[in-house]
Amino acid sequence: MRLAGLLVVATIGCGSLEVDMSKVVPAPAGADQAVELITAFYGVSARPTIYWYGGAALNCGYGTGYVDQKGSCVGGDQQDDTLIVSDRGGAPLSGTSLAHELAHYASDKRGEGGDQDHCGHFFRDDGESCAEPQDDARGDTGAANRMLAAMGL
Ligand SMILES: [Zn+2]
Repeated sequence: MRLAGLLVVATIGCGSLEVDMSKVVPAPAGADQAVELITAFYGVSARPTIYWYGGAALNCGYGTGYVDQKGSCVGGDQQDDTLIVSDRGGAPLSGTSLAHELAHYASDKRGEGGDQDHCGHFFRDDGESCAEPQDDARGDTGAANRMLAAMGL
């Protein structure tokens, strides 16, 4: 009984992703196609709700990111069925965090836990240590970004 109570408290205590609608811009060209391609590649049929941040909202990381609710400069975020992705104004979608945030989403949907530590196959090449620096050229995320780039997205 005590354990159950603690679990309830922990669930309620989890922060939720806050979307600042003043930062939202229209989805960039090709976004729907890119989402279809990536989610199919990741093996999920569900689709998230994606909010694109852009313009003056991208005020850190040399204009590539925004300051999230924890005060960190990030290029995107994901929680449950909601994604935020920075649209760098004309930069290719393969250079955004779209494939990265969709990887967290797909990991959730596939029952793999979301991989917030970036240690699983979505973020790591075969045999790559989790201690290596993480970037979006590795694992399934890297393959998805190369696929987008090959298609001109
Ligand atoms: Zn991540």
